Amino acid sequence: MQLTVLGCYGPYAPAGGACSSYLVQNEGFNLMLDCGHGAFSYLQKFINFRELHALVISHFHPDHYADIYAVRQAFSGAFQDGSRTNPLIVYAPMEPKPFFEEISSWRQEFITIPLEDAMLRRNKFGNLKVDFFPTNHPMPCFGVSASVGTCKLTYTADTAWSLDIVEQCADSSLVLAEASLREADMAYTKKGHLTAGQAGSLAQRAKAKKLVLTHFWPEYNPFQLKREAEVTFDGPVELAEMGKTFIVEE
Ligand SMILES: [Zn+2]
Repeated sequence: MQLTVLGCYGPYAPAGGACSSYLVQNEGFNLMLDCGHGAFSYLQKFINFRELHALVISHFHPDHYADIYAVRQAFSGAFQDGSRTNPLIVYAPMEPKPFFEEISSWRQEFITIPLEDAMLRRNKFGNLKVDFFPTNHPMPCFGVSASVGTCKLTYTADTAWSLDIVEQCADSSLVLAEASLREADMAYTKKGHLTAGQAGSLAQRAKAKKLVLTHFWPEYNPFQLKREAEVTFDGPVELAEMGKTFIVEE
């Protein structure tokens, strides 16, 4: 399984960057996790968008879903010229309702599945198993675990600290954790985000093998965030970077 960063910023991107988005690939199956501002452009550096099988919208904050409008237009065009014939599977939260209703009304382009339902089901794509879990954020938000055998990638999406998230990340080969905040910003964690140090503690308590930090405020120095996470996590800490690919292995 491999993970490619299509966007690692929030809530806006710096010049040339894009907001939250990741491409998970396993044996020809292409899964896009989130599609913030600019992410669809980056996706096309790696695959032909017609080869995308499923998209997960973790929640309806713009830095996680704004490019769905671009995805819809591209798929609409591909249907018209016959270069794509089956709709894209889109997983999204049912709330806020107007957002869910809008994307689920695009029936030619998308088959929209509520994450509230998908989290109760077995979701399998070949030998890739995909699980969803609620996070601790001001609006309904879902994290994602993608596993092949005992090889497991867990994406926190946006979340504040919670023991449930630790449990969901348990024994991950790689935890892709949001690190929106520095330790100095601890007061802002109540807005539903992690400090880099908390992301480190999360990986440590979950006994994760590797931690990749993401969801960077463009003005922050990611190397400072890395140092802060290294204080609380004994394993390797890496930084998400635009276009960087990580091989996820046991
Ligand atoms: Zn958010």
